[in-house]
Amino acid sequence: MKLNKTVLITGASKGIGKAIACKLAAEGYDLALHCRSSIGELKLLADSLQKEFNTDSHLLQFDVSDRVASKDSLEDYLAKAGAPYGIVCNAGITADNSFPAMLGEEWDSVINTNLGSFYNVLHPLVMPMVTARKPGRIITMSSVSGVMGNRGQVNYSASKAGIIGATKALAIELAKRNITVNCLAPGLIETDMVSQEIIDVVLQGVPAQRMGKPEEVAATVSFLMSEGAAYITRQVISVNGGMI
Ligand code: NDP
Repeated sequence: MKLNKTVLITGASKGIGKAIACKLAAEGYDLALHCRSSIGELKLLADSLQKEFNTDSHLLQFDVSDRVASKDSLEDYLAKAGAPYGIVCNAGITADNSFPAMLGEEWDSVINTNLGSFYNVLHPLVMPMVTARKPGRIITMSSVSGVMGNRGQVNYSASKAGIIGATKALAIELAKRNITVNCLAPGLIETDMVSQEIIDVVLQGVPAQRMGKPEEVAATVSFLMSEGAAYITRQVISVNGGMI
């Protein structure tokens, strides 16, 4: 059954973002699906969700580290579709290296993509959500690496810790507007982002002794999107098999 609510998901072409799109479509949300380069995959996903769940999808393509491109694309989207009910800021990258060997480019690309996107994506969308005077949901994607730090990921840990601070601060600003702002901190999840080298090292520290599935992150997003989660805001929710 259609909920007549739209959720915008960045980085929806694969991995966790795609699983979130599938879960929310199955629950009756319409979608704004975003990617950087995999627009073919995104179209296939939109078509299959349309057939299976009658989901309306709006496709967006821009680099979340590019402030101007993000603003232009999101303002165009807002003019056509209005403010979304929910946003999942999911797009992200890694560029792992030991800190002494880390290149400036590796630092900049990860900070600008993972943390810069908090501003680039949310800033154009927040005021339209506020002026819509309706309940809303914002979910950001941190990581266990941002909560506890991780070897070889000084750049990634910094970006993901930054997201936690930004999320908590925005949650305070938006709480009385009935817009919740929460952060997910997944552990080791089975997607293209995770290399075999990382699996071999990190899996030893996972009490559940397995990787998480993208669908297990999507299930948490689904709960936070629901009306029942209206009093949960400013939280960091871990989905990590007991890692911390
Ligand atoms: P994937 O690499 O599978 O997918 C990444 C998605 O982000 C793709 O849709 C990609 O689009 C998009 N993306 C990447 N860079 C940009 C950019 N500059 N501009 C726009 N879109 C971009 O990653 P995961 O699904 O594994 O990760 C999703 C989120 O979850 C990330 O924020 C990640 O840091 C976080 N996370 C992942 C964990 C894991 O173990 N997998 C653990 C903890 C957190 P395109 O395909 O077009 O390039």
